[in-house]
Amino acid sequence: MPELPDVTVYVEHVARRTVGRLLERVRVLGLNLLRTVEPELATAHEREVRAVRRLGKRIVIELEGGLFLVIHLMIAGRLHWKERGVALSRKVGLAAFDFPDGSLTLTEAGTKKRAALRVVEGEKALAALDPGGGEPLEITLAAFRETLIRENHTLKRALTDPRAFSGIGNSYSDEILHRAKLSPMALTSRLDDDAIARLHAATRNVLVEWTERLRDQAGEEFPEGVTAFRPEMAVHGKYKQPCPVCGTLVQRIVYAENETNYCPRCQTRGRLLADRSLSRLLRADWPKTIEELEGRRAAACRQRRDGVEREPDRGRDAHVAELPPAARHDQPNASRHRQRHNNLRHRNREHRGSIDPSPQRGHGQRGREIGDDPGEDVEAEEIQEGLREREHETAGRDHQDGHVGCVEPRMRASQTRGICPPSAIANARRGPPRSVPLSVPTVEIRAPRAMNAPAAGPAKCAAASASGLLDSASEGNVPMHTAWMST
Ligand SMILES: [Zn+2]
Repeated sequence: MPELPDVTVYVEHVARRTVGRLLERVRVLGLNLLRTVEPELATAHEREVRAVRRLGKRIVIELEGGLFLVIHLMIAGRLHWKERGVALSRKVGLAAFDFPDGSLTLTEAGTKKRAALRVVEGEKALAALDPGGGEPLEITLAAFRETLIRENHTLKRALTDPRAFSGIGNSYSDEILHRAKLSPMALTSRLDDDAIARLHAATRNVLVEWTERLRDQAGEEFPEGVTAFRPEMAVHGKYKQPCPVCGTLVQRIVYAENETNYCPRCQTRGRLLADRSLSRLLRADWPKTIEELEGRRAAACRQRRDGVEREPDRGRDAHVAELPPAARHDQPNASRHRQRHNNLRHRNREHRGSIDPSPQRGHGQRGREIGDDPGEDVEAEEIQEGLREREHETAGRDHQDGHVGCVEPRMRASQTRGICPPSAIANARRGPPRSVPLSVPTVEIRAPRAMNAPAAGPAKCAAASASGLLDSASEGNVPMHTAWMST
């Protein structure tokens, strides 16, 4: 999705070509493009363009008489400048804005047409489309700090939340966090002043540098080839490629349709953050540090060199091949365990009356208000959705002893795709209500037998599983035997 630097350069180029010119007409081909009924699109015809500006990740064309055309490119929407009256491609063409000396066209690749065009009248209606995030290039350190710690989230989520900061998405948040040398999964509440200052400076510097770079690359030409993946990026889209600072291979956390990239040496003190897809696959054997990962690679190489015949790969990822055979033999049991565990969780739902089930409270409610209307800021939603799940895992580590409490938020997260209200976490910290039979989960939820992690015993119920996922803030000493619960 085009973010602040891309959108800024688009705005500059559109302004250069259209301000002071007459918008003759707008041709719309995309069936789903126009999201407003009143005022009609035709009211924009034959009006002069007064200004072009950015609103979050949106491009706003201000016409005379206080009428605004608001273009949201979403993930695959792109702008182009073509000769006047150019025919739109049936496959990717969504709209054309015809001016006396050229046409601004809007295209969107792919089958999911998510780009949006709105016609609104008056500054007030325009302001209603603003998610309200602070401008990252203007925000003071004090305001930045206040916004950041207003809610306790992971840094990745806080940075990409359009209600917190304007125009930052998946790509530049990866770059900013790498520059600031901070873990994407670090919690905002645990940042010290030095880290916040570093993040504030990195946010500004990365966005300014990238805006200048994209401006230079476009030159006088209308910017083409706008993409979220650029060769000059340090970590975003660079999974398994060396970090430009330390040479360590860039790692990732996969969620929904997206992923977060980070350097484990620069950002997480050598610790690997659990990857959901890999956790599921590897469970006990997810390496906890980059050293361990490298050690395994070396061992696997030695094994190959010594001519030891390897088991056929079962996994989707090459890491599986580097594991001892015992770990791989484990795999068929995973789904059975998960099924048993899910059944148990369903059965135990009604016992947990003390945990506030209301999604109306706390940040859960606000979490669904990303963007100005549901389903619009899809990329932001995907990032935030994935991160919400991660935050449950992170939060779970805080109350390893609240056995029952941390099951509930995780269960609700997977079932409602919502987020646990802070009250649930607080209750979990306080411990379970007396009526809850603590022994139930501890009997059923046990580590699969065949794994070769240090014996942790069955008593470490669900809390341990949530805590088994690694993060820079974690000490990482909790056995990973229950990582399958993170599904
Ligand atoms: Zn690095």
